[in-house]
Amino acid sequence: MKEIVLKNKVFEKFITQDEIFDIVKNIAERINKSKILNPYFLAILDGSFIFASDLVRKIQIPNLQISFVKLCSYEGTKSTGKIKELIGLKEDISQRNIIIIEDIIDTGNTLVEILKTLEKYDVSSVSIVSLLLKPDVYDKDINIDFIGKKIPNNFVIGYGMDFDENGRNLPDIYKLKNN
Ligand code: IMP
Ligand code: MG
Repeated sequence: MKEIVLKNKVFEKFITQDEIFDIVKNIAERINKSKILNPYFLAILDGSFIFASDLVRKIQIPNLQISFVKLCSYEGTKSTGKIKELIGLKEDISQRNIIIIEDIIDTGNTLVEILKTLEKYDVSSVSIVSLLLKPDVYDKDINIDFIGKKIPNNFVIGYGMDFDENGRNLPDIYKLKNN
């Protein structure tokens, strides 16, 4: 399938399964070579669920742990406004070396919120891995430690990523056509 139609939008194949496999393998090798001890992976749902499962199976660092977490926003008091919180953390992550797993970093706003919520926990270190990054849009100073592939400012779906909750199951990554 070179092209698919989802909700009247045409998407064309952009990154094949084979290429994704190589990208994930390359990231895993870099993490394996890093000096991160007893890493605690935080896979950010929903988008990273497939990437995270492929990635951790290639990590050979002992005592690896993983939690799947979700960034949720709720209405605080009048003065605090919208509050974001990480839900799904099952264990005490204090003094742990955290590795955040993201599917894609666009503006970086989500990442900023995640790092803000992590300030509450007394973690030892935080590293960030993202399968994809859109450097033309990303405007934050936060260093992304492990980047799979830099892509232009196209909307992409597949391999966990969605368009209105559609397309997460696609094994390849597609991009919106004429974008
Ligand atoms: P950011 O906060 O702008 O960096 O966006 C991060 C989140 O938005 C990602 O974790 C994705 O869930 C979603 N997102 C950003 N760009 C895309 C895209 O091209 N396709 C699907 N989801 C995206
Ligand atoms: Mg996401």
